Amino acid sequence: MSAHGLPLDIVDRIMTFCPTFGTLQSIILVSKAFHRVFQTRPNASTSITQAVMYNIVGPALPQALRTVRYRHDYSRRSDDSVAIVMDEPCLEDNTHGFITVEEQQKLQENSRVAAALEDVYSVTNKDRTSKISVLTSDESWRFRRAMYRIMLYCKQFPGLRFDLYDDDYIEELRQQRTAALAEYPTDELLQLHSVVKFLRNIFVSLSGTDSPPTNALLSTGPSDALRAWEARNYSVLEDDPDFVDDMPFEDDENNPNFVGYLSLPFANIWTARNIAPPKEEEPASKWILDQVNGANDTCSQCSHPGGLTLYTEANWHRFPVILGNLLKENLKHNPTITQPFFAATAHLDNADDLGPFIGDLFALRTTAFDGWRREDSYCAACLTRFLEEHLWVWWFKERVKGGWTPPADCWYGWNCRTQINKRSHADMMNHLCAPMKGDAT
Ligand SMILES: [Zn+2]
Ligand SMILES: [Zn+2]
Repeated sequence: MSAHGLPLDIVDRIMTFCPTFGTLQSIILVSKAFHRVFQTRPNASTSITQAVMYNIVGPALPQALRTVRYRHDYSRRSDDSVAIVMDEPCLEDNTHGFITVEEQQKLQENSRVAAALEDVYSVTNKDRTSKISVLTSDESWRFRRAMYRIMLYCKQFPGLRFDLYDDDYIEELRQQRTAALAEYPTDELLQLHSVVKFLRNIFVSLSGTDSPPTNALLSTGPSDALRAWEARNYSVLEDDPDFVDDMPFEDDENNPNFVGYLSLPFANIWTARNIAPPKEEEPASKWILDQVNGANDTCSQCSHPGGLTLYTEANWHRFPVILGNLLKENLKHNPTITQPFFAATAHLDNADDLGPFIGDLFALRTTAFDGWRREDSYCAACLTRFLEEHLWVWWFKERVKGGWTPPADCWYGWNCRTQINKRSHADMMNHLCAPMKGDAT
């Protein structure tokens, strides 16, 4: 492409459409006209950079920029004193001026985190049928504005500040946290509260217990919440360099510095403003979403009222399952079956590959399941039943595909008990089949 002969304002305008800084860099490198704009007109280059930044970050740009511009300087803290010196963040409307390359990179990275978390929020709180966010532009703006503010808060109060136990220190820390949140108007604070609830729900969903150490975990910040979600385990966060020592989160949870990490400042503000606190049972969609899709949907097979927790193609990959447990009846105790089965499917347990795999099982649908369409929604119990009834069929076909010649069917099929403790029988007969007789002993 040549930009020669184009009026300067058109050149400027074209550059403002770049979707990323990488694209902007590319067109500057390949075209003299674009390059000249950047070299000779600093005002134009600043406004172009800002326009591109807006393309990347969207209307939450003031909050995003403020977050990357906040710097903490721990060297200024004196351990001889309980006073905590904390840098004040710049104001949210301070989005002018030159944006450094380092700031550009951090903006892009934080924007990636906010977008990825919005996708998770969307499929878990807005619409379970899409992996990609379907939030409206207003909903997305509320969500991301709150998310960047949480990023800033976690940057202001990271775990490594919490190495003191002095009562005065803790009191001052709590006051600082309250002051940091108190600058936001009440409606935006309620939105922030909902996004915190969403992040907390991520950790709860990963923990398998009712009370994971959410205060300590939340302090690691949104990017780590995303990292834990993607790893399906929050123990990956123990390498967080901002975190105090190498202590497990469970121990830190009892450290008074972590107690009420966000809930105490919220409680202080609700009291000071004389407003009713959000209710514990309110969903994380409240205050952020104008509409939730499919909130009253039911399971297509049993009419269980699952709403957003129902399973559909977009969230199959998050179905919590150990496939080996779903082999039918006594098949799961037959080593002739299980050893190669585990080897072939270990990578599917609680992994992204599980989604396409469940799709493959729908392609093998047996006649008894004629009415079960892959695009329908299922409760956990019905999806489990479907997997149980098709996993062994898949494994039979898979083994044949791999060159296995099935021996004669055992009369008792998957119900056979001899297959469990008599290896020669397990090897000699095929058990990946329906029983032709009952009561095998
Ligand atoms: Zn069901
Ligand atoms: Zn048998």
